[in-house]
Amino acid sequence: MERKRLEIKNKSDCTGCRACEKLCSVNCIKMVEDKEGFIFPEIDEEKCIHCGICRDRCPERKERKANQEFTIYGMKSKEISVSQKSTSAGIAYLLSRQVIKNKGVVVGCAYLEKLIPGQIRVDSIEEIEKLRGSKYVFSDTKDTYQEVKQDLAENREVLYLGTPCQIGGLYAFLGKPSPLLYTVDIVCHGVPSSKLFLNYIDDLENKYKEKIIDYQFRNKDKAEWGEFCAKIVLANGKVNYRKADNDPYYSHFLTGTTYRDCCYECQYASMNRVGDITLGDFWGIEQYDSHFYSPQGVSLVICNSEKGKKMIQELEEDTLVKVFEEAQAVRKNANLVRPTKREKIRDTIYEGIDELSSQEYIKKKLKVQMSPKQIIKRIIPKKMKKIVKKWI
Ligand SMILES: Cc1cc2nc3c(=O)[nH]c(=O)nc-3n(C[C@H](O)[C@H](O)[C@H](O)COP(=O)(O)OP(=O)(O)OC[C@H]3O[C@@H](n4cnc5c(N)ncnc54)[C@H](O)[C@@H]3O)c2cc1C
Repeated sequence: MERKRLEIKNKSDCTGCRACEKLCSVNCIKMVEDKEGFIFPEIDEEKCIHCGICRDRCPERKERKANQEFTIYGMKSKEISVSQKSTSAGIAYLLSRQVIKNKGVVVGCAYLEKLIPGQIRVDSIEEIEKLRGSKYVFSDTKDTYQEVKQDLAENREVLYLGTPCQIGGLYAFLGKPSPLLYTVDIVCHGVPSSKLFLNYIDDLENKYKEKIIDYQFRNKDKAEWGEFCAKIVLANGKVNYRKADNDPYYSHFLTGTTYRDCCYECQYASMNRVGDITLGDFWGIEQYDSHFYSPQGVSLVICNSEKGKKMIQELEEDTLVKVFEEAQAVRKNANLVRPTKREKIRDTIYEGIDELSSQEYIKKKLKVQMSPKQIIKRIIPKKMKKIVKKWI
């Protein structure tokens, strides 16, 4: 019988997870980049056998069971260097290290060629370094879903770390649960395209007159955890630091004006999480427990399943852990309650990306964005901010 196949009527209906492409038994689905640089499935009419699997298994078309059972922790690593080199407090690193010590494999996001992020599979502790740090850009799942299936078939433990939609895509692809699979979804407020990021990198390279070989979004060499400072490493060995509110790409990322369409309607932006564990920044922790605050960062960890709890228990010796309430976790992390609001500017922000040079495009379309709160924050001197923070 001929079954209905996948049809993307609205761009917001597709996260670009690649589950449909990888499930197709006749390889008739290709992921194609749109003008903004986001990938979408395209079906080859001639090859399609109308089996309907692409539509039936698409995670965007499935209702998810509500998860009422979760435990919320504030966590930090006992080793300061682990937090110092990570975005929040390095719990992603510790979980990855634990799985590799147990002879398992880890999948996470690394820069591939030319600073384009993508999911890769690693099986050594040295390689986890590539996954460290948030890349605030769309990460392509590539062939990782098939690699996970293969590893599970060979009875290896797998830890998959990614955005909630990547985890949803993985479960859709696999079709059935596996006791050997552990998943971590990150609290996510949305992803811009790698095309936009590369455009911005090109503009910076023109300014610096040098190639950029590494870009760390949340570096802590010269800034504390909450300060959002990027470290840019040039091919000649020089290093530059840029604060988010002075930077065209980063400020637009934080104000949410450049995301993939689906991010503004994200079904995962709630406490009904998809992974065994959810990781994020524990913003506002100093207001609930000033002794637990650390300038190197505190992670928000939500255990959504027994497997998740087991993994966190295995980190007992390496971490400091405290239980918190749901209201405390969500108060300053809006994406645990709702998706980012789509502002009007999103409709036109990518216009000209192909036609203009990177310098012209960045200057014209990505003017530095500052909210009134950021403007006030900038005016107040650092010393004063510390006094106010302490007083609060
Ligand atoms: C696009 C994006 C938006 C985010 N938004 C929020 C938010 O609104 N609130 C909040 O509390 N936290 C947010 N985070 C999560 C936060 O930045 C940290 O990644 C998280 O707290 C884990 O920190 P860590 O120190 O344990 O690990 P880290 O050292 O930061 O490791 C991060 C892990 O995330 C994975 N990762 C990195 N970049 C990507 C990517 N582009 N796509 C998929 N996986 C990736 C890596 O594989 C790695 O394992 C976001 C992260 C990303 C990538």
